Amino acid sequence: MTEPAPQTAPQLGDMTTDEFRRYGHELIDWVADYFDHIEDLPVLAQIEPGDLKAQLPASPPAQGEPMNAILADIDRLVVPALTHWVHPSFFAYFATSTSAPGIFGELLAAAFDNKAMLWRTSPASTELEEVVLDWLRQMMGLDKGYEGIIYDTASVSSMHAIAAAREGVEKRIREEGMSGRPDLPLLRVYVSEHAHSSIEKAVITLGLGQRGLRKIPTDSEFRMDVRALEAAIDEDKRNGFVPFCIVATVGTTSTSSIDPVADIIPIGEREAIWLHVDAAYAGSAAIVPEFQHILKGCERADSVVVNPHKWLFTPFDLSVLYCRHLDLLARAFSLVPPDYLKTSEQHVRNGSDYGIQLGRRFRALKLWMVIRYFGVEGLAARIREHCRLARMFASWVEESDDWEVMAPVPFALVCFRARPDLGISDEVETGHRLDVLNEAILQGVALTGKALMSQTKLGDKFVLRLSIGNIRTTEKHVRQVWELLNEQLKLLRR
Ligand code: PLP
Repeated sequence: MTEPAPQTAPQLGDMTTDEFRRYGHELIDWVADYFDHIEDLPVLAQIEPGDLKAQLPASPPAQGEPMNAILADIDRLVVPALTHWVHPSFFAYFATSTSAPGIFGELLAAAFDNKAMLWRTSPASTELEEVVLDWLRQMMGLDKGYEGIIYDTASVSSMHAIAAAREGVEKRIREEGMSGRPDLPLLRVYVSEHAHSSIEKAVITLGLGQRGLRKIPTDSEFRMDVRALEAAIDEDKRNGFVPFCIVATVGTTSTSSIDPVADIIPIGEREAIWLHVDAAYAGSAAIVPEFQHILKGCERADSVVVNPHKWLFTPFDLSVLYCRHLDLLARAFSLVPPDYLKTSEQHVRNGSDYGIQLGRRFRALKLWMVIRYFGVEGLAARIREHCRLARMFASWVEESDDWEVMAPVPFALVCFRARPDLGISDEVETGHRLDVLNEAILQGVALTGKALMSQTKLGDKFVLRLSIGNIRTTEKHVRQVWELLNEQLKLLRR
């Protein structure tokens, strides 16, 4: 049988459903092949900045093009310019990955194309979101006082949490703003020096200014120093400032350290300060029974953010804000609806009341499909395995004379560095050479295309980060990257 001739778009209307079916099947085959052969591709895109742009036409096509020409360009142009986050040897940043049920959820959400601004505009999205977030709350062992709401990213979730906290300060900021107000004292947010930069961005976005953020030092294990927090709050109060929000992190970005939430709680309660917990990365681990303790103290926090798009195999993006005071969040963001948005339904949730967005994507669908497909135990088993692999890798580092572990490994992130004997007595010179060596190792591994890691600075030391979180990563891949690291070290020592 001959293949039907390639079609371009009809004069009006969408692609025919026959064509849609044909290309849809092809595309699913393409994705299955992509996963089957992902390990043949270099993890890090092997292109120079501007390479892709140079190959793309500068202006759009006046006439539609056949779908197979577009799909051919995915192979020819797009794939070589991808850094493959779904590659099982992607160990950089926080390694995360999509999963088949999550991809199906995205596909369906795109087909439904609902804008969940009001209950009426997407009852399915609104109600599925409420139910699936209550499932996740139970999975993480968070108490019933929390209600969840989905945003795109943790940066946005935290920004909304801080906005709700600010609303609780009762300074009529919603009505009168912050600028030009001599009656408004400096409002302060407290984070550890290891908190994610998204908190600083939130503070900037909310008009609190960088002066409105106070960074608290950490202890030897990179956890917020609670005594220093107390002292900072006391000092700020003496200076007439208003401390209104503490952000504790469970699973910091550099090292995955855990701030002592349970010890911070009494400070927040005594001073009536909102406690927001950034568990964007590690919150997912709380679904593993033996890890549930990591959220100890959160039963008395005001809000918690967790990112299923990080470690629950849900395609980017999906972040969940759990909040005890949705009323404050709504007070910060809801407006009496304009006439064109008025509806008759009572006692329903209208998503747009809880944030700056009007239309909201149907994100709950993919999370619902992921949880149903893998089950709670299946998801927990995968996270547990990642943590086992990380501990195994850390044990190799510890046993080797040439490497050292640089931070505790509570989850599936290992911070380490090469520390061979350089035979130099000068400490400063040794430190400098080790930084250069580790940077070269990182680069060398990336250039092989076989694995990708990232780095951080701890103290003044350049440190390598190996993060395990991809659903396809197995012991084989972890062994491979360990071999690669040792090969690079050998090469560079010559
Ligand atoms: N908080 C922590 C602890 C993170 O590690 C990250 C990202 O890695 C974020 C927040 C920001 O996440 P997002 O990209 O969802 O805004």
